[in-house]
Amino acid sequence: MLPPGSTIGILGGGQLGRMLALAAAQLGYRCHVFAPEATPPATDVCAAHTRAEFDDTAALADFAAAVDVVTFEWENVPTAAVRQLAALVPVHPGVHSLEVAQDRMAEKQFVEWLGGRTAPWAPVSTRAELDEAIARIGLPAILKTRRFGYDGKGQARIFGPGDADAAWDAIGQQPAILEGMVEFAHEYSVILCRGVDGEQVDWPVPVNVHAGGILATSSLPAPALVRAQAADAVALSRLVAEKLGHVGVLACEFFACKDGLRFNEMAPRVHNSGHWTIEGSQTCQFENHVRAVAGLPLRPTDLLLPRVEMRNLIGDQADDWQRLYANPGAHVHLYGKGDARPGRKMGHITLLSR
Ligand code: AMP
Repeated sequence: MLPPGSTIGILGGGQLGRMLALAAAQLGYRCHVFAPEATPPATDVCAAHTRAEFDDTAALADFAAAVDVVTFEWENVPTAAVRQLAALVPVHPGVHSLEVAQDRMAEKQFVEWLGGRTAPWAPVSTRAELDEAIARIGLPAILKTRRFGYDGKGQARIFGPGDADAAWDAIGQQPAILEGMVEFAHEYSVILCRGVDGEQVDWPVPVNVHAGGILATSSLPAPALVRAQAADAVALSRLVAEKLGHVGVLACEFFACKDGLRFNEMAPRVHNSGHWTIEGSQTCQFENHVRAVAGLPLRPTDLLLPRVEMRNLIGDQADDWQRLYANPGAHVHLYGKGDARPGRKMGHITLLSR
């Protein structure tokens, strides 16, 4: 167990790191962020910040010497950086979780190997392979880059064969997968946490609504179809965590289809659809992640009130801060980002009720 006063290194300095650092501080730990930006949101609440690129091996070595354990809040951290750190200091989750989650093809193969069902898909690394994939998968379909996709970026929809050229160009002609468009009733996510000893806890499953490819709300209770599938989704997600040897929070996103669940993607880190746990659950995802990384026992995840809704504040939605602060029912979280660009996650609010 990491004693209080120890330092947790966090790779990445966004709002997830900020909320991790707040939870770590409550348990008596210090946080040290490694991030290339000058003033990322996490550094407002962290003890130290190494400002360097992830390929700066000297900065990584100094960082490893300054911290007791390392975690990450961004899943696109280069695995070379994580390997270098892991030779010097414990890193949780490990590089295996990152490698699988960074590549949509590896992720889908891994989950299928464990018996999970995904959308029909085919690998695409050339324009000719895109035509072959369309013939195999059918249309409509979505072309997704294998790497660096998030919030709907790196994706292009193909409705007819005439869209293929534009889609291939839109994703920058990168290695990709073509996914058949799934007819789903809802989207939902399993948020779980696995400790160093293999113990796992998971939170009640929220239904997630996206707008423009970005999460808009996560709410509980989820609709009946999601509730009916939740046990199977949790079982699959727990198996994924176990087989990855994952330590910390893992988020798995699913489509609720009428004929059963389909796994969509995973994030080997705390997740936006788990922000409601800060006020809505006995222990939030950030605290249990810190506990896992620090080798502490995990705490219970029960819902505190029957109804919980987390609403993201995207772009100018946070400009209304006076009204948000004045709402006695809203737990307001603002991430300290200056510039409210369209599509940027500026904060969130959580509402609880009976
Ligand atoms: P992703 O980045 O893979 O989570 O995709 C972003 C959003 O696009 C998802 O949350 C879904 O709303 C939608 N989407 C992704 N893949 C599919 C699919 N195979 N069929 C239908 N909708 C999808």
